[in-house]
Formats: sequence, C-alpha cells, structure tokens
Amino acid sequence: METNERMETFIDSLDKGNTPFLDKIEKYALETEVPIIRKSTQSFLKFLLAYAKPKHILEVGTAIGFSALLMSEYGPKDCHITTIEKYEKRIPIAKQNFKEAGREEQITLLEGDALEILKELKGEYDMIFMDAAKGQYIHFMPDILRLLSPGGLLISDNVLQDGDVVESRFAVTRRNRTIHARMREYLYELKHHPQLETVILPVGDGVTLSVKI
Ligand code: SAH
Ligand code: MG
Repeated sequence: METNERMETFIDSLDKGNTPFLDKIEKYALETEVPIIRKSTQSFLKFLLAYAKPKHILEVGTAIGFSALLMSEYGPKDCHITTIEKYEKRIPIAKQNFKEAGREEQITLLEGDALEILKELKGEYDMIFMDAAKGQYIHFMPDILRLLSPGGLLISDNVLQDGDVVESRFAVTRRNRTIHARMREYLYELKHHPQLETVILPVGDGVTLSVKI
C-alpha cells in the first residue's frame, strides 16, 4: 500500500484543482469529518462528466453536497442532478451550499432513505453515482438498473474499503463482515450481470464504472 500512497500523492500533486467554492466546502468537510470523494475520484468524475456529457444525473448519498456541486460545475450546463440524503444533520447544510452556489434549480435534494425513495423514482438517468452506505449498494441495485438508461453509466464509490474487500472475511472485524460480504456480492453482480459491463478500478477508495448494455 506504501507504493500506492506515494503514487496517489504524486498524481494528486498534478491536479489543477476545483473552484474556490468547492475548495471551501471540501475544507469544511475534512475539518468536520464529513466523508467526501477523494481527489482522485473527483478527477475521475470530472473526466467522465466531460466525456459522457450526462443530462440527467442521480446521486445516492449527498452528505453536504460536495460531489453534487462538483457534478453541477463540471457537467454540461443544462444537466440536472437529483441527489438523495437521509441524515437530518447534513440535509440543511447541503441545501445551504446549493443555495450559496446558486444551484438550487439545477440540483434536487430528495430527503429520506434511498431504499424507499429509489422505489418511487421514475424516469431515466444517464449517469448514476452511488456513494451511500456501502452495505446497501446490493439492495439498491434492482432500482438502479431500472433507472439507468441504455448506455448510461453507473459509478460506485468506496468499493474496496481501504483494501478490506480484498482481504479474507476473517481478517476484517466482525462488525465489518456483513459489509465485506455484501460488497463482494455487489462487485460479483456488477461483473456478472448480463445488462452491465463493469471495470473495477483502484482509484481513491475503489471505484467501479459500469455501462448498461
Ligand atoms: N457524495 C458525497 C459523500 C456522501 S457520504 C460527496 O462526495 O460529497 C455518504 C452519505 O450517504 C452520508 O451522508 C449518509 O448519510 C448517506 N446515506 C447512507 N445511506 C443512505 C441511505 N440509505 N439513504 C440516503 N442516504 C444515505
Ligand atoms: Mg464515497
């Protein structure tokens, strides 16, 4: 892992950075221990936004809105983002951040548990960013597949859990074993589902990129 960390530091050092407002939210998140996507994952998302030009984006796991704002900033001007968050403490901060950034029209925040909200959602999304509770990804999957348009991209974050996922289940703490098992199941499904072509990348905390075929 030592080498990987050095590589990550080097790669991050070449980054040209984000807007000052995004920097401000990122700093606040790091100071208050709100989880947000890492630099390398930000860079990967920015690439995908420029390449795929998605118009309808769905995010599961808003936190305080950093990644949603990054997508609104670096996605197509006319893209719309729907993002889901259940944690009451983070929702007002996210809303305030969307307002301050002048993105209230472009970003819709749905409040509540994604397990229920996803069931009710209709329409087609050409990019879905999965960044919520890792043990639940597998349960979100049927609705995510229904909501993803043909040719659409599904991006899932934190799939390697700091390397835990590649370890034997006995090497992880009991508390993490359920998450470990579910994440492995999720990765297997992503790789074997007939409607998906998936690549697993050791970017940031582990990211998968799937296209619906
Ligand atoms: N995407 C954000 C970080 C998200 S952190 C960014 O990079 O800026 C993960 C978030 O998912 C947490 O705030 C957590 O409260 C939320 N979450 C976890 N499980 C959820 C669920 N079932 N429904 C809605 N939100 C959920
Ligand atoms: Mg994440």
